[in-house]
Amino acid sequence: MRPILFENTYAALPERFYQRIHPEQAPIPELIRVNEALAEAFNLDIDWLRSADGVAMFSGSRLPESSQAIAMAYAGHQFGGLSPQLGDGRAHLLGELVDSHGVRFDVHLKGSGRTAFSRRGDGKAALGPVLREYIVSEAFAALGIPATRTLAAVLTGEHVFRDGSVPGAVLTRMAQSHVRVGTFQYFAIRNDREGVTLLADYVIERHFPELRQAENPYLALFEAVALRQAELIARWMGIGFIHGVMNTDNMQVVGETIDFGPCAFMDRFHPDKVFSSIDAAGRYAWNRQSRMAKWNLARLAEALLPLIDADQTKAIAAAEAVLAQFSEAFRNHYVSIYSAKLGLAEADENQADNEAFIRQTLSVLADNAVDFTLFFRHLTQVAEGEEEGALVALFADAGAGSRWLELWRQRLADRPDREAAVKLMKQSNPIYIPRNHRVEQVIEQAQQGNFAPFHELVDLLSHPFDEQPGFEHYELPPEPHEEVQETFC
Ligand code: AMP
Ligand code: MG
Ligand code: MG
Repeated sequence: MRPILFENTYAALPERFYQRIHPEQAPIPELIRVNEALAEAFNLDIDWLRSADGVAMFSGSRLPESSQAIAMAYAGHQFGGLSPQLGDGRAHLLGELVDSHGVRFDVHLKGSGRTAFSRRGDGKAALGPVLREYIVSEAFAALGIPATRTLAAVLTGEHVFRDGSVPGAVLTRMAQSHVRVGTFQYFAIRNDREGVTLLADYVIERHFPELRQAENPYLALFEAVALRQAELIARWMGIGFIHGVMNTDNMQVVGETIDFGPCAFMDRFHPDKVFSSIDAAGRYAWNRQSRMAKWNLARLAEALLPLIDADQTKAIAAAEAVLAQFSEAFRNHYVSIYSAKLGLAEADENQADNEAFIRQTLSVLADNAVDFTLFFRHLTQVAEGEEEGALVALFADAGAGSRWLELWRQRLADRPDREAAVKLMKQSNPIYIPRNHRVEQVIEQAQQGNFAPFHELVDLLSHPFDEQPGFEHYELPPEPHEEVQETFC
């Protein structure tokens, strides 16, 4: 058997970037699931991962010799207020692996014990959030939306105290990066210009090597990060996803969705929808996500300004131009994504027209409390020639549904390439998403020791665009008593 062989480029940065610390022992580690497809992409030995040594690594109890475990330092604006020191309070970066395409990924444990950054926290993770992150991150991968991945989940054999006593667990996360907007802020607010520069150079070297040639590499870095976020947020919005906690420490620089704490998917569409119990003001509501991403990017710009230009007036003007680019890029992605979902013809001259129709559509959906995912699923079926009954039945007022459908039909009628439109709709409108109530049901069962529903859901969501006979019930919105009103970190 072949143990994991880690590289450790982040741990080669200066000591003030992290704390060197070994994870805590888990009393009785027990494997819940290994992501074999992901393991294969890194040419890992599945038998070793499943062995006592592998499980010891996934629980943090015993690490391969090549691991130089660290807890990363970062800061962050949480709901608008600055915390100068957050950092990995319950996570350890074990090292890095390079995949078959040459892309370097971090391997990181979450729930693996206290560090210098734990503050009052216990350093642990509860089973529920670990399973939620496994399910949602892997669903994102199958949907083709950039996100951190999950390599494994284990039970630790101890209980942690949240609302009550619940099983403790550790998640092994893989990500192209764990550098966040808040990592840059950490050095900037300490006036550690050398730290900001080293971090920026590290990120350019590892993730955006082509930018070394740019006229102004740090401005180019800011632009690259902003454009990745513009696309990412548009893609979230295209599947009715609400991240829930878009603090600057939860926004990562290569544009992967990170931290699935209180995230949720909308059932009935409403643009102001919020689920997170700690977001009473609706700061991170569905339709505010692009504005909040831009707000976070402005914080990143502030950290990078001294590097962008010695003349701060010029640096600010350049950063503002990038923020304007973000808005434009977000809008283009958003219109393009919804045009594809609706089967609208996409051309530059159609953009404003499509945008108006998208706005009108979403307003009708909100007024009629229409289920978001089923709407696009049934619309795709109607486009394929099926009857419209199921679609119209989703609207609180069936008349409003029929009137909207008439408008949509007129738009589709003048498309000469109807088949291509339908194909694009099928690729853009998932049949299965991790509906909140399903995730909660899976967690409840797992807490009682039954992991079969968890495995079934993960497997189902690995093919979100394919009809899976026998699993039609997973398409359905919750019954009133199953509905999730609120989500928790
Ligand atoms: P999050 O809300 O998950 O983005 O975490 C925000 C900050 O709180 C990060 O610094 C985490 O490391 C820290 N944190 C969250 N939960 C815990 C915990 N149970 N123990 C220690 N630190 C934690
Ligand atoms: Mg976080
Ligand atoms: Mg979290």
